[in-house]
Amino acid sequence: MNLLNNATILQVAIPTPLRQLFDYLPIHNDANIGARVLVSFGKQKKIGIIVNISDKSDCPLHKLKPIDALLDTASLFPPALLELIHWASRYYQSSLGEVFEAALPKRLRQIPKNPKPNARKKKTETKNHNLMAVPALQDTAPELNTDQKYAVNTITKQFGQFQTFLLDGVTGSGKTEVYIRLIEQMITLGKQSLILVPEIGLTPQLLTRFQKRFGVPIAVLHSALTEKQRYEAWQQAKTGRAPIVIGTRSTVFVPLLSLGIIIIDEEHDASFKQQEGFRYHARDLAIMRGSLEHCPVVLGSATPSLETLHNVHIGRFQHLLLSERAGNAAFPSLRVLDIRHKKLDEGLSQPLIETIREHLSNKGQVLIFLNRRGFAPVLMCFECGWTANCRQCDARMTLHYQHQKLQCHHCESTIPLYKQCPSCHHTDLKPLGIGTERIEAALQRHFPEHNITRIDKDTTRKKNAMRDTIERIHKGETEILLGTQMIAKGHHFPNVTLVAILEIDQALFSTDFRSLEKMGQLMIQVAGRAGRSTRLGHVILQTCHPQHPLLTKLLEKGYTEFSEALLAERRAICLPPYSYQILIRAEAIKRERANHFLHFVKTQMTKKQNNSVKFLGPIPAPMERRIGKYRAQLLLQSINRPMLQKLVKTLILEIEKNPIANSVRWSLDVDPIDLY
Ligand SMILES: [Zn+2]
Ligand SMILES: [Zn+2]
Repeated sequence: MNLLNNATILQVAIPTPLRQLFDYLPIHNDANIGARVLVSFGKQKKIGIIVNISDKSDCPLHKLKPIDALLDTASLFPPALLELIHWASRYYQSSLGEVFEAALPKRLRQIPKNPKPNARKKKTETKNHNLMAVPALQDTAPELNTDQKYAVNTITKQFGQFQTFLLDGVTGSGKTEVYIRLIEQMITLGKQSLILVPEIGLTPQLLTRFQKRFGVPIAVLHSALTEKQRYEAWQQAKTGRAPIVIGTRSTVFVPLLSLGIIIIDEEHDASFKQQEGFRYHARDLAIMRGSLEHCPVVLGSATPSLETLHNVHIGRFQHLLLSERAGNAAFPSLRVLDIRHKKLDEGLSQPLIETIREHLSNKGQVLIFLNRRGFAPVLMCFECGWTANCRQCDARMTLHYQHQKLQCHHCESTIPLYKQCPSCHHTDLKPLGIGTERIEAALQRHFPEHNITRIDKDTTRKKNAMRDTIERIHKGETEILLGTQMIAKGHHFPNVTLVAILEIDQALFSTDFRSLEKMGQLMIQVAGRAGRSTRLGHVILQTCHPQHPLLTKLLEKGYTEFSEALLAERRAICLPPYSYQILIRAEAIKRERANHFLHFVKTQMTKKQNNSVKFLGPIPAPMERRIGKYRAQLLLQSINRPMLQKLVKTLILEIEKNPIANSVRWSLDVDPIDLY
């Protein structure tokens, strides 16, 4: 754009929580919407994005500062992506500057040493080297079964149009093969495929499979990359050099030269939701992106979220079912092991120990799932009842026996293990409850002749530790694997013939209305690790509640009927997806401040509405004190989403400008998935 006179104003989005744009004067003749600028902001220098070019400002002209430098000669964002960013800022009621910040690789968010326009040669911008290349199939493609063929054909018919599909198939039903066939066609059409995977779902196994099947560059974006690698992958995606772009949550914002399809694997996974700063849901944004870019969106899952199933019911998404397990793999058989009145040895029942022995003697691998790391969640004095609690949080400290320490799993603070009770000085301190470390010790006692591998946050901290461990398992160097949800996702363990699930009873009676859904998804995923080659898998669930109606439904009828029952419950009490929520959180060093702020917000909002929005709270957060701060929350819920959005929108700017907003740290969470 040519800027003709001095009255030209650049409206710039700056990464700050303030929900407004900032006006600056241009210094060049040339400025484009979507380009970065370096500006003075208060006493700091910041990088902003030009959002609009106007001839008016609310500020007197002589008060406006010129920008320090223009950093790009062209927009960094294709028009549809710019539109997505604006939509995200409106929908999640976040500042546009923060949304742009989430959308850019770190390298482009850093202030350059010599600020000058980043003018890349036009040639590399537009030339797509590999886009027209026909895929070089290096690995042989397996024959598709009827369901897979139907899915591929149905989605193919919608190329070039927006439609969301749920690709619903159990672990091992061949969802990845469906993705591969779709991507293959995209490459032939000269279009790019965008694949989103959960945080820990991006396994070397999946990447290797893609690399073997496609002879084209694959841009990979995830949190373990260096800044340089991330920036290069971003460039490959933007210029079209990479026909396949695969990454975690924030990859939904990567610019693409020619987007043809979006695939979201494990769409139910909670890691698609950003829980800090700009709180967005990558699945929901991906669907919006598909609609803006006119391309199909495929949501894959063995355990679809209730939100997605609801969208299938109301006809918004099209359901594609993969009902068979691909190849020769058989479904695992599920068995409940009633442990009421049974003596447990460090969490393991006698019948379970015998079953493990049986599988090991038949040369099968055994997988034990327990979603709690450490040795025991509580250390208690049996003389006076004292328990080891965190000084900064309302939480007990977990005992880590191996490192002789107590650790808070909320703030990560640690202290050495007590030798005697600090309250009564007795030495009768005992661990209560079980964690993976404790099960490992018990298993070593029962099966001294077998190799045991534990996979949790504590054993996989070192770089490549996870990869090396998985390799060892595949080579058969370990017979018993034991771990938290880290082993439940993504990885294939073809020789596992027995899966044992421990300690899920808490989830059956949690106050979190999503806990049963999460438990069901996790259980099905863990169960899916068994029997993936030709051997039949067995799954054993130890529980004190074998008659729990929803648990029985899950085990006897499967995830579909289980999720239908959950949906019916949600509908009856009008919880999401049958209503919409916005959560306002506040935290402060002083308890009253957080409360006071939320009461103020509630009063302001109550004045402006006619009972279509329900308020729950303010109440203390379920764990009120965390890292030394008191936390409170106010939940807004309505069956009328536009009304709810409008109420918050009209008041948020007022609240933001009120001095009371500076007395606490507060945030807005639209469609929260974690209220607890
Ligand atoms: Zn004591
Ligand atoms: Zn703590």
